[in-house]
Amino acid sequence: MPSAPSRVTSLSRRVSAISESATLAMDRRAKELVAAGQKVISFAAGEPDFPTPQMVVEAAARACHDPRAHHYTPAAGLPDLREAVALKTRRDSRLPVDASQVMITSGTKQAVSHAFTVLLDPGDEVLIPAPYWVTFPEAVALAGGVPVPVATDETTNFKLSVDDLERCVTDRTKALLFVSPSNPTGAVYRLEQMRAIGEWAAARGLWVVCDEIYDAFTYDGAEFNSLPAVVPELQPRAICLNGVAKAYAMTGWRVGWMVAAPTVISAAINLQSHVCGNISNVSQLAALAALQGGLEPVREMRAVFAQRRQRIAARLNALPGFECVPPEGAFYVFPSVQGLVGRSLEGHVVQGSADLADLLLDKAKVAVVPGDAFGAPGFLRFSYALSEEDMGVGLARLEALLS
Ligand code: GLU
Repeated sequence: MPSAPSRVTSLSRRVSAISESATLAMDRRAKELVAAGQKVISFAAGEPDFPTPQMVVEAAARACHDPRAHHYTPAAGLPDLREAVALKTRRDSRLPVDASQVMITSGTKQAVSHAFTVLLDPGDEVLIPAPYWVTFPEAVALAGGVPVPVATDETTNFKLSVDDLERCVTDRTKALLFVSPSNPTGAVYRLEQMRAIGEWAAARGLWVVCDEIYDAFTYDGAEFNSLPAVVPELQPRAICLNGVAKAYAMTGWRVGWMVAAPTVISAAINLQSHVCGNISNVSQLAALAALQGGLEPVREMRAVFAQRRQRIAARLNALPGFECVPPEGAFYVFPSVQGLVGRSLEGHVVQGSADLADLLLDKAKVAVVPGDAFGAPGFLRFSYALSEEDMGVGLARLEALLS
């Protein structure tokens, strides 16, 4: 029997070309070690350590007992939740949107994937400011597009300029991804910087995909702004992404959304109707309770993060070989560890940030994500959305290993 040609036996090139999300991979490795009885402290996943607010949990429990919540919802999401998201977007992003411009997704990650699937044809390029969240280039590539990283560094606090964009734009550029506050750097753009970037994108007729998931987490007077609110000409070609995961400590409930022009949303609804039908009805009702429940839990969590941020940045900066730009938003610190490359730690010469992350896990039982995964070798990402106690223990272990 002739063997089947490799085209038949192999898996799709598109999916074979991607690798596991590095943030989730490190989180998985840490959890596996904990399950095996090791006392690992994880700064890896960006996941608030707070429980979901009690009134949200109660609303979900009531929904579980209500047969109406046991069935499909419209593919776009529950009408009341779409309405509540529109209200939240008008309040926080200051965008004049209504419920017809909202689609509920399975976490914001699915909104990222849908946005690029709806926008891109093969070969379309997307400008992605680097360091970037690990999923962005893969989501663009999976949608058939070409991710084009636009490098930034500590000298500008990891913020893009129009000159940087000019260097990377081509006649295949279709969209600009914009993230503020940023994962992994914590950078928050000033209004003037956003205006310049937004006007540049508008003048070129580009789409903008705006990740607004960290909108609630800004510090030291830095402020969240939505790019299409700063430059309203962008609104017909803007897709804004957000969700309840970070602000309401609801990562596992998987409720996010995209907000865009009605034509984009109807295309996305068609897509979603074939991809997953709808997001869990009970989870949508939980998200509705969160959005209707007011901002108190969000403010409390933000205040705690603001203090942790000061503590972790100060202690990391004091470590030999570490240098941090103070993050102004989100819940990450992104120190340079270039100073440790070539140094011997417990008999092992550090080759780079990925090697150092492995070493920290092995020798100190501390999990962090190497900057390599974010397009920025030479850095490590620390999430400080872990308990105060764990944070203290983890930092003390690093101090003991490195000092
Ligand atoms: N967005 C979070 C992070 O960067 C959650 C993990 C993930 O989905 O990548 O850690």
